[in-house]
Amino acid sequence: MFNRILVANRGEIALRIMRAARELGVETVCVYSEADRNGPWLELADEAVCIGPGPSAESYLRFDRIIAAAETTQADAIHPGYGFLAENAQFNEVCRDCNIRFIGPSPEAMATLGDKIACKNLARETGTPVFPGSDGAIEEPDEAAKIAQEIGYPVIVKAAAGGGGRGMRIAEDEAQLRAGIESATQEAVAAFGNGAVYVEKFLARARHVEVQCLGDDHGNAVHLYNRDCTSQRRHQKLVEEGPAPQVDDAVRDRVCESAAELIRAAGYSGAATCEFLMDEDQQFYMLEVNTRVQVEHPVTELITGVDIVKESIRVAAGEVLSIRQEDVGINGHAIEFRVNAEDPDRNFMPQAGTMDTFVTPGGFGVRVDTHVRPGYRIPPNYDSMIAKLIVHGRTRDEAIARARSALREFQAGPGATTLSLHRRIIETPQFQNVDMDIHWVERWLEAEQQD
Ligand code: ADP
Repeated sequence: MFNRILVANRGEIALRIMRAARELGVETVCVYSEADRNGPWLELADEAVCIGPGPSAESYLRFDRIIAAAETTQADAIHPGYGFLAENAQFNEVCRDCNIRFIGPSPEAMATLGDKIACKNLARETGTPVFPGSDGAIEEPDEAAKIAQEIGYPVIVKAAAGGGGRGMRIAEDEAQLRAGIESATQEAVAAFGNGAVYVEKFLARARHVEVQCLGDDHGNAVHLYNRDCTSQRRHQKLVEEGPAPQVDDAVRDRVCESAAELIRAAGYSGAATCEFLMDEDQQFYMLEVNTRVQVEHPVTELITGVDIVKESIRVAAGEVLSIRQEDVGINGHAIEFRVNAEDPDRNFMPQAGTMDTFVTPGGFGVRVDTHVRPGYRIPPNYDSMIAKLIVHGRTRDEAIARARSALREFQAGPGATTLSLHRRIIETPQFQNVDMDIHWVERWLEAEQQD
């Protein structure tokens, strides 16, 4: 096991990682920016090192400063959390060159799964369902037009190196396809330095269902079942739940097993998530693989009892996965709500400032992961998430009832938060009856505004 882990992140995930490390008897070092000088999570670190000013480009994204902090504090591993450098294969490689273990996959596994074309090719080999479309990067627009004709419009042009929704174009016909290839290529070159694009079927109405996986360096990989993250706004997840409701057990098991197979084939160590879109006939199509721990991992922890963060630290230290597939079961239902300091009534405007009131709910089946306490000043530089409320019940209905009660107890202010939005979401027939697709929240918000 490691002696000291450096946490290259902030907020609730820094706290989550430090708690897991402590349980494993590992010391922690936390780096922070000047804007996070008073971050309550720093109190949990054995050592804290300032790595620069507030803007993340000058602190949390600086390889040199993070590596220097690790070396001077004698940390033998770095946990990147999510966001920032978590999916940066180059940083991963620098860590390896400096003899510091990056807690996550090898740079090679990260690069393979992070490249959407390479990932899709591997998925085809392991029987993980993918969208019909081009086999690889488009060389000739004529060839793409032929493929689009075969699979039928609408289609979507996507960048191999894509992320954050950039480098994507939907095309309803051949003219749009040709224009889309050109503009997506340009955007991808500018944003990622890699202009490779491919084309696949576009699914207009779908749910987002993803599979949590874990792998180790000894050729083992397991899945921890699935989550539904269909309630989104502008591709940002708002509510996540597991297991994904209204998916037949046989379909679920087949897709989950194929995701674990993909992770194994990639020689993957640590936590990974295979994201899929699911159509109304329960057909699955892989979107991408996230090569890191995800915000919504607690949903899976509550239903499987597996500590995903601890397990990924253990495998990074070279240990064998402590769980076999046959040990993993589903216990009840869990739902997570992302509480953001944003005003849902004013186009989700971020609300920086001090949290005077911050009263978190508690009780049976209620978990709150947060770095906030009353008097905490939210810096304007980072993501607006201030807490995750996760509820667990024996059934989905019980989890919803528990969420209703916990959301009522939860008080945060004076700035607006997304708590009010969540209180409304759980009362909608769409959410209650799982009559959802990835655009349902946006349509519902728009309709509400017109009322
Ligand atoms: P990124 O890495 O940029 O997040 P993804 O591949 O995850 O890109 O796609 C982002 C979003 O775009 C998805 O969550 C989904 O809403 C939409 N999308 C991507 N591919 C398709 C597709 N083939 N059909 C329908 N929607 C898609």
